Amino acid sequence: MTTALYSHPDCLGHVTPAGHPERVARLEAVAAALAAPAFATLDRRDAPLAERSELLRAHSESYVAAIEATAPSSGGVALDADTHMVPGSLAAALRAVGANVAAVDAVLSGDAHRAFCAIRPPGHHAERSHAMGFCLFNSVAVAAKRALDHHGLTRVAVVDFDVHHGNGTQDILWDEPRVLFASTHQMPLYPGSGAPHETGAHDNIMNVPLPPGAGGVAFRQAMERQILPALEDFQPELLLISAGFDAHADDPLAQLNFTEEDFAWVTTRLCELAERHCGGRVVSTLEGGYDLEALAACVAAHVTALMERDG
Ligand SMILES: [Zn+2]
Repeated sequence: MTTALYSHPDCLGHVTPAGHPERVARLEAVAAALAAPAFATLDRRDAPLAERSELLRAHSESYVAAIEATAPSSGGVALDADTHMVPGSLAAALRAVGANVAAVDAVLSGDAHRAFCAIRPPGHHAERSHAMGFCLFNSVAVAAKRALDHHGLTRVAVVDFDVHHGNGTQDILWDEPRVLFASTHQMPLYPGSGAPHETGAHDNIMNVPLPPGAGGVAFRQAMERQILPALEDFQPELLLISAGFDAHADDPLAQLNFTEEDFAWVTTRLCELAERHCGGRVVSTLEGGYDLEALAACVAAHVTALMERDG
């Protein structure tokens, strides 16, 4: 079985204002990196459009209706200072969620070993009823809920190593005892949440903030001392990754100093953990990462590690 790669050209139709860091060129850089011969064996699949019922696993009916109504037929609309919609945004966001739904289905049915969703816009800042931080729909939260409520799993882990706290994922999964959500992120930094005392309604959330300037040593310690042991205890039946690469030293939006080797390392550790507990079932989704060269290198390192046990 091989690693599946979900993406779709519609994700390029979400065009943000000039100078916006979350831009079309990000996904083009990722696609170029994954076009290298080393990735020839990836099982490339078109991400479907998510059904509305999938959005409702993580978002309120009124919120979904508001986003649908806000989608412009021409021009652009600002939902807040950094979250925008153009005519192509809704389809892009639906492909992003659809990629996650299809990836979960494929990995749980044995149709793929692991999966990476190369999509945009990102999703982890989108709360149940609130768009923010470049995010419209929370793809990873939908994926977790689909695994639980459609496939009947009882323990799904979500690991988020984006440099920003996944406030939206935390919001949606706060009261979900069947999920362990574990996040490393820079603090202080946008969006301001993610303190260690935010532990969820069922002790199901683990936040391990890192100070500005922290690098791979601090990251690996956080994983080895706190997050990986918690994941071992939790014994997940599926592991989801919110894979943001903006903790890289070259990223312009934050001040952590990870390297691509750190992202390869954490990916391998998570895949090993998944092998021990859930047949290696891992679905990873692109979140942030705003230096194009660093993003491309980090995605290549991450996907290489995901593919390690393909055969
Ligand atoms: Zn981020």
